Amino acid sequence: MDDCIFCKISKGEIPTEFLYEDDRAVAFDDINPEAPVHVIIIPREHIPSFNDLGPEHKDLLGHLSLVMKEVARLKGVQESGYRILTNCGTGAGQVVFHLHFHLLGGKRFR
Ligand code: 5GP
Ligand code: ZN
Repeated sequence: MDDCIFCKISKGEIPTEFLYEDDRAVAFDDINPEAPVHVIIIPREHIPSFNDLGPEHKDLLGHLSLVMKEVARLKGVQESGYRILTNCGTGAGQVVFHLHFHLLGGKRFR
């Protein structure tokens, strides 16, 4: 996807410091954080949203889960607590249509 901002970040076309990266996933701080810790975790593969996941993505999703756990550890919130979410669709507040998970922590959530 030529005009996808997260594809560009993944490919290094938009300079962004990676908190974590491997061949399938990338994690970086959200540009507009809503908590002291706010990390975006994405697959390198362009998948528009959670709705576009299929059986072929089972292993990738499992991998992303482990990456998110590692991000929580790297950010020091593994024990204090953190929240993981994905917005699916415009009605849920999805703005960037490249599948991503938000990992939020460093504050007390209600
Ligand atoms: P969404 O609302 O689509 O679930 O979330 C998109 C998130 O990506 C937002 O929290 C927004 O701040 C973040 N974001 C959008 N563009 C960029 C960018 O260029 N760099 C970074 N680091 N985060 C971005
Ligand atoms: Zn993309």
